[in-house]
This record gives sequence, C-alpha cells and structure tokens, in this order.
Amino acid sequence: MFDKILIANRGEIALRVIRACREMGIASVAVHSTADADAMHVRMADESICIGPPSGSQSYLSVPAIISACEITGAQAIHPGYGFLSENAAFVQIVEDHQLTFIGPSAEHIRIMGDKITAKETMKKLGVPCVPGSDGGVPDLDTARTVAEQIGYPVIIKATAGGGGRGMKLAKTAAELENAFRTARSESKAAFGNDEVYIEKYLTTPRHIEIQVFGDGKGRAVHLGERDCSLQRRHQKVLEEAPGPSITPEQRARIGKVCADAVAKIGYSGAGTIEFLYENDEFYFIEMNTRLQVEHPVTEAVFGVDLVREQIRVAAGLPMEFNQNTLRLNGHAIEVRINAEKLPNFSPSPGRITQYHSPGGLGVRMDSAIYDGYRIPPYYDSLIGKLIVHGRDRPEALARLSRALGELIVDGVDTTVPLFNALLREEAVQTGGYNIHWLEHWLETNLG
Ligand code: ADP
Repeated sequence: MFDKILIANRGEIALRVIRACREMGIASVAVHSTADADAMHVRMADESICIGPPSGSQSYLSVPAIISACEITGAQAIHPGYGFLSENAAFVQIVEDHQLTFIGPSAEHIRIMGDKITAKETMKKLGVPCVPGSDGGVPDLDTARTVAEQIGYPVIIKATAGGGGRGMKLAKTAAELENAFRTARSESKAAFGNDEVYIEKYLTTPRHIEIQVFGDGKGRAVHLGERDCSLQRRHQKVLEEAPGPSITPEQRARIGKVCADAVAKIGYSGAGTIEFLYENDEFYFIEMNTRLQVEHPVTEAVFGVDLVREQIRVAAGLPMEFNQNTLRLNGHAIEVRINAEKLPNFSPSPGRITQYHSPGGLGVRMDSAIYDGYRIPPYYDSLIGKLIVHGRDRPEALARLSRALGELIVDGVDTTVPLFNALLREEAVQTGGYNIHWLEHWLETNLG
C-alpha cells in the first residue's frame, strides 16, 4: 500500500480523497494555487504545496508542477478527483513514466473512452446497446443528410471530443441540419481543437441513467446499480439519485451485467460510469466517464461502500473488497449540487461566506470544503457542496432532503438552495416522473 498520496484537485473532492487516505493510514499531500492558500483541503491534508497562480491552466492543470510536487513530497501515487486532469490520457502516461501510480484506469482506456466515436464503437462490440446513429464520424454535410434521413429526424450532432454538455446541436428537421452541422463543427473546433462530429437519433423524452462499474484491472468487474440524473440544466446534472425511480430490479441486473461484463473484458481498472439515455424501457449508451463522478456518494450510500478506498486499493494492486454477490442495494439516496450561483440566471456568486451551518442527523452527508469566513474564489467551478441524504425508501429520502435543506445555512453568497426548496414542492419531483427536459421547461415557466 502507498505511504503517501498526492491529490491533484481542490474543493470538496480533494477533501473526500483526504478523508479516505486518513482512514486508511495513508499520508495526504494537497496541492493548491495561490488563490487557494486558505482552502479547506490545504488545511486538512498532512502536507501542502503551492503549484502556481490562480488560473487552473497554470496550477491544477499544470502537469510539470504536479509531477514536481510528487517528487518534492515523496508521494507515490496521484488521485486526480474529477475534472482537471482526471481524464487526460497524456497526463496518465507522464505519471507512469515517472514511476508514479495514477489512481484510475490506464491511459489507453482513458484514450478510448475520451473519444466518443471510438468509445461508442468499442461499447457496441462489447454488446452494450447504443443510440442509433452514424457509423463513426460524419465528414461532410451530404453524409450528414444521408445519415439523418436514414435514422429519421430529430437528430443531434455531437462532437467526438465533446464533454461537459458542449459541442452538441439539435436538428429537428432537415431544414435545420445544415446550420446545426456547421455550428457543432465550429464550436467543437474552438472548444476542443477537433472538429470531428457524429450524428445520433435525438431521443425526445429519455431519462439519464448511468451505471457505476468497478474493475480490478485483472479481468474482474462488478456493477453498483444505476443513478438517475435526469434533472439537468444545460446538460448539466442538478440532482442525482439511486436507485432510479423507473428501473426495476430485473432491468438493473440485466443492464448492470452487460456493463460489468464489458469492462471486465477490456481489463478496466478502478471506478467508471457508463452513461445511458433510457426511453421506453430501452437503454442507449451515450458515453463512459473513466473517473469518479461528482454523484458517486449516492451509490456509496445505497451500497454502503467507500469507492475512493476501493480506487486506492485497486491502484495499489490489492483485490476489490466487494464482489457482485456481496453488493446489496439498501434504501434510497438523493444528492443535490449546491452551487454558489444567483438565480434566476445561475450567474456565479463568488465572495465571502459570512455564516455556514452544515445539516446533520440520521442519513445526512454534507460533502463541502467551505467554512465560516471562507472566500469563494472566482476562478473555478461554482460547486460549493453536495448534500446527500439516505432513507429507507424514496419518500423518506425526499422528506430528509427537505429537512436537511432547512437546516443548511450559507450566508454571504447566493446559492442554488432555493431552487431545491422549490423543486421539492413539485409533483413531478415527488413522484420521480420527469425526463431530461423537464427541468428546462420548469425553469422557463417558474424562473424565466
Ligand atoms: P457530455 O460529455 O458533453 O456530457 P453526453 O453525450 O454525456 O455529453 O450528453 C450529455 C447530455 O446531452 C445527456 O445527458 C442528454 O441530456 C443530452 N443528449 C446527449 N445525446 C442525446 C441524444 N441522442 N438524444 C437526446 N439527448 C441527448
């Protein structure tokens, strides 16, 4: 086992990893930008090291700075968290070249899944059901027209290098295709330096269902059921839950096995998420994330496992502590993402937190790196906390969420808490009867 792990991240996820390290008796090293000198992850880690100025590209994304920090502190392994360098295959290669361990999958698996066309082709071959669409990239408008006619409108043009909901354009009819195709390509070129796009059938009322998988890198893998992340704004998740309100135990077992078998076959190592759109009882693969997800705590709550601990164990060459037969789904968990944002426009609301009180009690987990007097810097993501509740069933989890939100105090900045208070009063949220477009419509009607 490692003696010391460096966490190449900040905020709540850095804290999350430090906590796992501490419970495992492993020393932790925090890295930080000059803007984060007073951050909680710096205070909580055993050691810390400044790696650059505020801008992410010069600090948390600076590969030389992070590798040097490992060499200076003697850390043997790097946990990347999510975002930043977590899905950067070139970084993983450099880490390995320096005889350090990357806590996550191999560079090759990250590369395959990071290119959405290759990912889709790979999954198809492994027997995972995919959204109907083009076979690979679509080089020109004529090909786009032919493919769209074959699969039928509406279609969505997607960037093979896409991520974070960017580089996607909808064409409802043939008349909209040309514009959608050109815009998707130019946006993708600007955002990712790659203008390759592909086409998929646009599903009109799907839910977002994702399967948590975990592999030991030696051909064994399990699934830990699904998370339903259908409440989205601009393709970004707002609330996540497990199990999915629309998924039966039989469906879970079936799609879970397809996913676990697929990752076992490629010898996948560590945590991964296979994302699907789910419509009319069918699953359609959209992408795989080769890292820990923001919403992993809902899975931890219902399965009673520590996914970060497992990631560290597997990276150190130890076996997984669970197998498919020991994993039992228990109750219902919901996570809400608390962002420092001002409604109704969700504009960032950085600044000083004058008062913070975290909710507590049975079945409540608050993952956050904020504290009284903390100044939220304007340079990074606006996520300031994740509130996760666990109950015996969905109604109990919803009641607990409402109660916990009532206890939470974050003064001095605007947050998305009022959004969740309002959403909890909605029939569709109470019954779980929504698809991925529901929240956008609700926001237009209620906040627009
Ligand atoms: P990203 O990597 O940018 O997050 P994804 O492929 O995961 O892109 O898609 C993000 C979201 O976009 C999905 O959760 C869904 O809301 C929407 N989406 C993607 N593909 C389709 C599709 N074929 N039909 C309908 N909506 C889609």
